[in-house]
Amino acid sequence: MGYRKFKADHLFTGFGLADPDAVLVTTENGTVRAVIPSAEAGEDIEYHPGILSPGFINCHCHLELSHMKGSIPEKTGLIDFLLSVMRQRNTDPAAAARLKQAQPDEWILSAITTAEQTMTDYGIAAVGDVCNTTHTLRQKEEGNLHYHNFIETAGFLEDQAAGRFENSLNLFRTFTQAPRLPAGTHSVVPHAPYSVSSRLFGLIAHFEPNKLLTIHNQESEAENRFSVTGQGDFLRLYRAMGVDTSFFQGTGKRSLESFLPHFHRDQRLILVHNVATREEDLQFALKWQKEEAGFLREANARSSNLFFCLCPLANVYIGGLLPDLDLLIRSKVQVVIGTDSLASNHQLSILEEIKVLQRRFPQTTTASLLQWATANGARALQLDSVLGSFTAGKQPGVLLIDHLAEGKLTERSSVKRLAPAQRPF
Ligand SMILES: [Zn+2]
Repeated sequence: MGYRKFKADHLFTGFGLADPDAVLVTTENGTVRAVIPSAEAGEDIEYHPGILSPGFINCHCHLELSHMKGSIPEKTGLIDFLLSVMRQRNTDPAAAARLKQAQPDEWILSAITTAEQTMTDYGIAAVGDVCNTTHTLRQKEEGNLHYHNFIETAGFLEDQAAGRFENSLNLFRTFTQAPRLPAGTHSVVPHAPYSVSSRLFGLIAHFEPNKLLTIHNQESEAENRFSVTGQGDFLRLYRAMGVDTSFFQGTGKRSLESFLPHFHRDQRLILVHNVATREEDLQFALKWQKEEAGFLREANARSSNLFFCLCPLANVYIGGLLPDLDLLIRSKVQVVIGTDSLASNHQLSILEEIKVLQRRFPQTTTASLLQWATANGARALQLDSVLGSFTAGKQPGVLLIDHLAEGKLTERSSVKRLAPAQRPF
């Protein structure tokens, strides 16, 4: 059997930087054999300037919104962003009629194909993808990338819960019955704390296949205000949607503390955005997970099933703040990275996401950023047996990131795929 031997200025394994002299040895298809000193690697070592990394994991995307690239105005704030997306996503009947003429399904499907191709080119191997429609099914059945499909459900009024959940179950069944998609890669998930009723949270939490969940969390301070008092900018959103929220007087608690207790304490959960997440929220979340009934879990932040997903370029696009990264690092929570959708981003590139984090938080090490983008993401999406690190037997893809300066990413850094990741089937 032939081998490939990769050497670069730096070699990131998924968990840290290897010795500068290390060589990555793979089979011809990219399955990792070992990371060894160059003196033991023999001939035919390929040298590349830059840093080698396993393939990226995109923990938060809405591939079905790819046709909305460039159509939503930037920096309007979250409420107006959400209203624009809903309008253009056919919840408004007049807009739907206009859009149907302008954007037949084939156009939506080809935007999805293009977006997936760019993710592949940017070195992404797996995607946690939020779904409200079947538009992405055809592309996913090609088996180019691993996906976990998060079938999204929402409904703030208690008496809507059963109907909304049933609708989502129908979509869930369509995905699970697609013959080629792997079993166990679909869940029914809540959209956001402010858009899901207690009853609907209950149905989600008790749905047996829901081993892995995700939710948009604390994307703005207005979300916390609405949670505590039932007041603030979110009333504008509900008014525009014709939803009467006057029955809701707030829980007296911030958003994360209000919704987390709906779930099992060991629920694997990817919390997305976390822009308005503060120290008290993290302390509550970690303490809550530890207090498992019956026995004292030896939980700490790193072994927790909670993952904090950052999509910084979507935050910039929408015009919000960035999450408090120093707080997340200090609290030792597990950080993962997502691109969000082309409705709120100019590209679906994990490298661009971590570049903006390194620029805005210069003390963050390249190894930390890459770990969030690879091994942590693979663990979050339950794909760490095949992806996320240069561990013998895995085929995570081999990426080369170039134009580093003193070990840090620069504006010019770009990514190239040297070897492919394993396909899902
Ligand atoms: Zn999202």
